[in-house]
Amino acid sequence: MTFRAGHNHLFIPGPTNVPEAVRMAMNQPQQDQRGPDFGAFVLGIMADLKPIFGTTRGTIMLFPGSGCGAWEASIVNTLSPGDRVLMARHGHFSTLWARMAEDLGLEVEAVDVAWGAGTPVNEFARRLAADREGRIRAVFVTHNETATGVTSNVAGVRAALDASFHDALLFVDGVSSIGSIPFRMDDWGVDLAVTGSQKGLMSPAGLGVLGVSEKALAASAKAGLRRSFFAFADYAVSAKTGYFPHTPPTAVLHGLRAALNRIAAEGLDQVFARHARLAEGIRAGVAAWGLQPCAEHPSLASNTVTAIRTPQGVDAREVIRIGLERFNTSFGSGLAQLAGKVFRIGHLGDLNEGMCLTALAVAEMSLRAAGARLALGAGVAAAQEIYERTAPVVALAAE
Ligand SMILES: *Cc1c(COP(=O)(O)O)cnc(C)c1O
Repeated sequence: MTFRAGHNHLFIPGPTNVPEAVRMAMNQPQQDQRGPDFGAFVLGIMADLKPIFGTTRGTIMLFPGSGCGAWEASIVNTLSPGDRVLMARHGHFSTLWARMAEDLGLEVEAVDVAWGAGTPVNEFARRLAADREGRIRAVFVTHNETATGVTSNVAGVRAALDASFHDALLFVDGVSSIGSIPFRMDDWGVDLAVTGSQKGLMSPAGLGVLGVSEKALAASAKAGLRRSFFAFADYAVSAKTGYFPHTPPTAVLHGLRAALNRIAAEGLDQVFARHARLAEGIRAGVAAWGLQPCAEHPSLASNTVTAIRTPQGVDAREVIRIGLERFNTSFGSGLAQLAGKVFRIGHLGDLNEGMCLTALAVAEMSLRAAGARLALGAGVAAAQEIYERTAPVVALAAE
C-alpha cells in the first residue's frame, strides 16, 4: 500500500470513526459466549440502546450482520408472501430496501420521488386514506437517506397512519440517524427500527440492531415469510437472557459497550446538539462555495451527512480521488445515479469542530484541483463563524 503520513481523515457516512477507547476495548481474548457473566453483559448493552432508540416498551435485537441484515430480519419476521407494502424511493438506500422487499416476495407499492426529496408524507397519507380495505400491511420510511443527505418526517407518517385509522406496521431505516439525531421509536409508533453498529454507534461493522415494538412481535407469530437465522422467536429469548442463538461477534460487542459509555458520558442530548452544530457549519461552508446540496430544501438537510453537487463539468469522483491521493482524506462517493455528480461529507459519530474544518479545507483544495472555481478558505471561514459562535465552553475539570 502507498505510504501516507499522518492518519486518514475519514469523512464517509459510515463506517464512521471508531474512537480509540472503542478500539482498545475490542482487544479481548475470545470468551465463552455461554459463560455465566456473558448474559448480563449483553443485557446491559440492550438496556443502554433503548434510550438511543427512544423506547422503553420495545425489544432490542442484536443480529450478527449489518444494517441490511436487520432490514431483512424486520421483513421476514413480520410480513407474509404477497403482502402489499408502501415505500418511497428517493435515494440509493430507500431504493435498495424496496428491492429487498420485492426479492423477499412482497408486493411493493413504490412511490418514486426525486433523489433529494424526503418521504412524500402527503402522498403516503392519500394512499393510506384510500386503502379502506387495509391492503397495505406496512409502510417503510428511510429516516435519513444517506445517499442524498435527506432526513424525512417519521412523525408525519405516523400522523398519516393515525389519521386514517390504519393499522399497517411502520418500518423505519434509522441506520444513519439512530445515535446521532433524535429518534423516538415509542412516540412515533415505529414498529421496526433498523440500525447497524458502524454509524452513529461508532463501532466497527458486525451487528444489525433492531428495535421491535410489541405489535411487531405479535405480528411475527402469524407472519408467513420464511425465516431461520434471523427468527424473532430466538432473538426475543436473547433479548430476555442476553445469550445469542449463534456465536456473536464478541469483539464488536465490547466495542459497542465502550461506545455506549462514551454516549452516556457526553449525554444523549449533547450528542444530538453536537451533530446539529457540526452539520450547520458544514452547510455554511457548502453555501459559501456557491455549491448546492442534494437535499431539495433546507428543512430536509440531514445533520449526519451532506451530499454536495459538484459544479457542471467537475467530476465528483475526481474530487474524491484527489482528496485521498493528495491529502489522505476520504469523502463519500455519489451512489448509483448520483455517481460523479455528488460527493458526500459524513459528519456523524465521533467528531468535532476541528475535524469538520479539516473536511472543508481538504474539500476546497480537492474541488479546485478537480476544476471547480472557488476561493480557498471560503467554506472554512463560513464554518468557523458558526463554530466560533456555537462551540460550547467546557470547563476543564480539576482532577
Ligand atoms: C449504511 C446504510 C444502510 C446499509 O447498512 P449496512 O450496514 O451497510 O448493511 C442502510 N440504510 C442506510 C440509510 C444506511 O445509511
